[in-house]
Amino acid sequence: MSVGENLEKVRQSLPDNVTLVAVSKFKPDEDIMEAYRHGQRIFGESRALEVRDKHERLPKDIEWHFIGHLQTNKVKYITPFVTLIHGVDSINLLKEINTQAAKCGRVIDCLLQVHISDEETKFGFSFDECREAVNEIKNEALENIRIKGLMGMAAFTDDMDEVRREFRALKELFDEIRKTSLPDIDTLSMGMSEDYLIAVEEGSTMVRVGSMIFGERK
Ligand SMILES: *Cc1c(COP(=O)(O)O)cnc(C)c1O
Repeated sequence: MSVGENLEKVRQSLPDNVTLVAVSKFKPDEDIMEAYRHGQRIFGESRALEVRDKHERLPKDIEWHFIGHLQTNKVKYITPFVTLIHGVDSINLLKEINTQAAKCGRVIDCLLQVHISDEETKFGFSFDECREAVNEIKNEALENIRIKGLMGMAAFTDDMDEVRREFRALKELFDEIRKTSLPDIDTLSMGMSEDYLIAVEEGSTMVRVGSMIFGERK
């Protein structure tokens, strides 16, 4: 199956209110352009220099989302153009994004990353840390960032009941934060190739799908 056919298939499986981020990390420009010709405009990348270079080479109406772990010293490479940063996992990082965004005269949308599985390797705030971070953000004058919602990754497991429980827990945290602290958040980024249909059933508004569109990464 071609990138275009895969893309159509994923799109057809998504409700209208769910945004598809086509995760193109490590994939060549030709693959991105094939998706582009099929109407895809939102692409996700996980490395700062890679996305900076792709942004320079490829059509300027592409919206680039940064989905990986972002180091503070790399923030400056993406702030001039990035549309949404999914993986904000510390207040320090948020402050650096704010500083760099101010230099570009931009306000940058961000999602707080929450680790919903117990896996040690996953970045992100715990649920309690996330609640604390939200309070801290409300007290800081960070005028060049906007918190749009939360992002999470489920455990790497075949146990789809476990995956579903994790997504459900993240949705509950999202609803709680919207109700108690940040009424304007509207984005819940959860779901990848293996689990995005479950994520959508559990309330995801944005899925990040890579290998199902572009094939396995080397
Ligand atoms: C790579 C990646 C994805 C896409 O993964 P697939 O399994 O290829 O769909 C989604 N989210 C994040 C954070 C990623 O790093």
